[in-house]
Amino acid sequence: MSDFPTQLAFDAAVAIVRDIAAKHRLDTESLPLGRTHGRILAADVRAPIALPPFDNSAMDGFALRHADLREGETTLRLAGEQFAGRALDLTVGEGECVRITTGAPMPAGADTVVIKENTRAEGDRIVVLKSPDAGANLRHAGEDVQPGDVVLHAGQRLTPARVSLAASLGVPSLSVFRRPTVAVFSSGDELVEPGMPLSPGEIHDSNRELLMGLLRAEGLEPTAWPRLPDDPKQVEIALRDAGCAFDLIVTCGAVSAGEKDHIPAVVRQFGQVHFWKVRMKPGMPVLFGSLDQARVLALPGNPVSVFATFLGLGRPLIDALQGRTEPRTVERAQLVSPLEKTHPRREFLRATVFCDDHGVLRADPNPAAGSHRLRAVGESNALIVVPDGPQRLAAGTVVEVLRYA
Ligand code: AMP
Ligand code: MG
Repeated sequence: MSDFPTQLAFDAAVAIVRDIAAKHRLDTESLPLGRTHGRILAADVRAPIALPPFDNSAMDGFALRHADLREGETTLRLAGEQFAGRALDLTVGEGECVRITTGAPMPAGADTVVIKENTRAEGDRIVVLKSPDAGANLRHAGEDVQPGDVVLHAGQRLTPARVSLAASLGVPSLSVFRRPTVAVFSSGDELVEPGMPLSPGEIHDSNRELLMGLLRAEGLEPTAWPRLPDDPKQVEIALRDAGCAFDLIVTCGAVSAGEKDHIPAVVRQFGQVHFWKVRMKPGMPVLFGSLDQARVLALPGNPVSVFATFLGLGRPLIDALQGRTEPRTVERAQLVSPLEKTHPRREFLRATVFCDDHGVLRADPNPAAGSHRLRAVGESNALIVVPDGPQRLAAGTVVEVLRYA
């Protein structure tokens, strides 16, 4: 594998991931609204109607003509009731009012709503105790959305608010990008399922759950494959099998320079390696390739490397495959304590990000060193991104953080 002697800069690796994934962007499908949550929208949505569709009351009270109100109290004749629901075509004449509830269409003639709390009922008369401003407590047709407005854009992620906006416009289904199907592999002869006893030299497989959880948090439904042994033929058979059935293969372990690290050779022999080894810490041996119809993201085995490479490269890959063009929110926080590094790689450090009493986001680096230390990942909630090159960052420096909890 001498074709990849130098490590790629982290930003260059992200660019390659995005570029190749965009070339293999998934198809679109039309889904009923209830199944679009979390998906990426494939086509702009134009409003077929106005929102609100009609003038209506913002409060429970009485619709009236503001010109009828006098200084002090005004007594009006109750001419009818218009509750939220079908419009009754009522009209408010001079000296009259109509009982109205929130969301009910405004009767003709009325221009203002007085809230119930500022009135007193006397038989079929309503006494207005405190005059509202002209036009008060009214919602106007089209004040939120005009027919023809583009309210949702292709490439956006469908949040609950966006799906509900489509619902309020009466749109029953949306065109979204298909989600990638994902095969997850952990690899290594030392791995044993949780629940099985450990023989000397063995450890429990923790990365599988880590990856399954991280992928599910992205809204995907990954499939866990049986663990790969450190045997080149078995690695070959399993990966080639997955390559013709899935959109994405995520592996962990067996991607470095050890005698048992067979994944790079298999991807190269039967597919294509887009890059191998990135100037990042941890996670340097990460590989990105293609195998049959699948993109392959081969992550190193150390649990913290899995975290850094998945958050740093896996998320952009999943986004681009699904046609997401809306950027994720970049989060930044102030360092609680100084950081120093001399190596050129981009570094990802576990940290606890919190909001201090002044409303400032702060990042407290976790002191645990070593990319095998999963406990420190559990105690933290983010990775601090330390820029490429030697760095001396004083306490208070603003750094990017990737939150995972
Ligand atoms: P490798 O990249 O295969 O050399 O693995 C690097 C380190 O990560 C070794 O200490 C492995 O035992 C460990 N490791 C690899 N895969 C897993 C896994 N699925 N769960 C926990 N640790 C793992
Ligand atoms: Mg291994």
